[in-house]
Amino acid sequence: MGQVNVRPQAALALDVGGTKLAAAVVVVGGDGPQVRCRVQVPTETDRGAAHVMERMERAAARALADYRATESAVPVEACGASALGCPDAAGERVAFGANLMEGWTGMPVAARLSHAVGVPCVLLGDVQAHALGEARWGAAAGAPSCLCVAPGTGLGGGLVIDGRLVRGAHGLAGHLGHMQSVHAQGMRCSCGTLGHIEAVTSGVGIGALYQGVDVASADFDPAIDGAWVARRAARGDARARAVLARSGFALGSEIGSWANLVDPAVIVIGGSVRKAGAVWREALERGFRSQALEPLRDVPLVDAALGDDAALVGAAEYALDRFARPA
Ligand SMILES: [Zn+2]
Repeated sequence: MGQVNVRPQAALALDVGGTKLAAAVVVVGGDGPQVRCRVQVPTETDRGAAHVMERMERAAARALADYRATESAVPVEACGASALGCPDAAGERVAFGANLMEGWTGMPVAARLSHAVGVPCVLLGDVQAHALGEARWGAAAGAPSCLCVAPGTGLGGGLVIDGRLVRGAHGLAGHLGHMQSVHAQGMRCSCGTLGHIEAVTSGVGIGALYQGVDVASADFDPAIDGAWVARRAARGDARARAVLARSGFALGSEIGSWANLVDPAVIVIGGSVRKAGAVWREALERGFRSQALEPLRDVPLVDAALGDDAALVGAAEYALDRFARPA
């Protein structure tokens, strides 16, 4: 039965996305992670960072109180927070997030949560947490390394090598979305730069491609996004199908280039855009093989397996590594 002698450990985990905010206690033993006492509420980014921070504190405290009231056999030793925006190198504050919500840059997330729940806390990026969760217990479990790519509202990435999340010197490692691409020439990225791959591969970017304008344009309609285009494509809209093929190929090409740089054993595809359908997926695979060096062309591109729990599991794992392990 695997690592039955591993002492179970528990961490509080948060997953703060653009639309929803989740908190839970993750108990990790030899048989895998169990997500307990999950609390989920809308993030409400439109009300600003101070409001969101308070919601995070309340959700975390409630999940922890629920856990302690019902099943406290495994004590909670740490807290990991996966959140939108860029964390700093120390995992303490949001280094950059002004484009996501007012007041988010500089928010001392780790200290605020630690004060609220009474255990040490670390902050990491949302796709970084996804990547670690999938690498430890999901689609890349057992693989020596993985690159996780998540086209959703934006385009995130995360890299795990030898079981460890690579965070980089500034906490930003894995920001695949902000790589220049020939497929995004003239398109404005969410970070403000022209030509980054996110501009044509995120859900918003797919909408922009369909409309033939970039996201910064006054003519851009945010209601036309990746999901909208995918629905049109499924009904036979030729333009929608062409846009999905172009976007999928562009993303696959970028992943192929990244594979040449880091040589991952497995590539995990997460994010909502991966549900865009067969046209997108086939183009993604084709784009990948067009850029990957010959020995890498058979590296598997697999779907993320942990669903909504991936970031919670990854954040808990990261926090346990930092504050609690080795047992
Ligand atoms: Zn960018």
